[in-house]
Amino acid sequence: MSLIAGNWKMYKGAAEAGEFCRALRDAELPIGVDVVVCPPFTALADAVQALAGTEIGVFAQNCHWEPEGAFTGEVSAPMLRELGVYGAIVGHSERRQWSGETDETVGRRAAAALAAGLHVIACVGETEAEREAGDTEAVLRRQLAVLDPDEGLVVAYEPVWAIGTGKTATPAIAEDAHELIKSLLDVPVLYGGSVKPENAAELLAQPAIDGALVGGASLDLGSFLAICQAGS
Ligand code: PEP
Repeated sequence: MSLIAGNWKMYKGAAEAGEFCRALRDAELPIGVDVVVCPPFTALADAVQALAGTEIGVFAQNCHWEPEGAFTGEVSAPMLRELGVYGAIVGHSERRQWSGETDETVGRRAAAALAAGLHVIACVGETEAEREAGDTEAVLRRQLAVLDPDEGLVVAYEPVWAIGTGKTATPAIAEDAHELIKSLLDVPVLYGGSVKPENAAELLAQPAIDGALVGGASLDLGSFLAICQAGS
């Protein structure tokens, strides 16, 4: 079984998300693939409503570690559960880069989400400079050290140099990193970084790649479905 997750980032408001999810609900999904979508917070309720009664899960793109409190701009796991949200992404590199996310906060977010009954996709990955300096393994070890194995936990290996850049890790580079991650943490590992219909099958054929976290190419229903197909 592979997992294909669409991270919509800050795209699609509530109306557009609802429309996309109704079309996804009515589309023929391949057997052997779990599909999830990760809309912005304001579109979660519409996505959950449109996908009610289906096997397609709705994930948030972040989740705070406290159930409530003076944390302006944050959303907690119980709040997401109340909406019918199934899981949350934590530690996306865009949040590490732009929103001050650290390994410590990623670990706290993941633990709280899991404890509250959400599933979690925790993102890890090295920057281009770190890869060039030969630090990929050390970075992945450090980022994974804050995560505990859990039935609800999935890791996404997202080399930062491949996110939204059109550069994709070769299947061999991705496979190496996935093998390392799996040797450190026994959980499914998704690949993320410019996954498209054209490269999905080759990446998803690697034995240690258990699915994909897809950004840009998940915004279009046709290309998202083609990637889901490649995962079957
Ligand atoms: C992502 O947002 O997690 C991602 C991998 O983006 P893209 O597919 O656009 O590189």
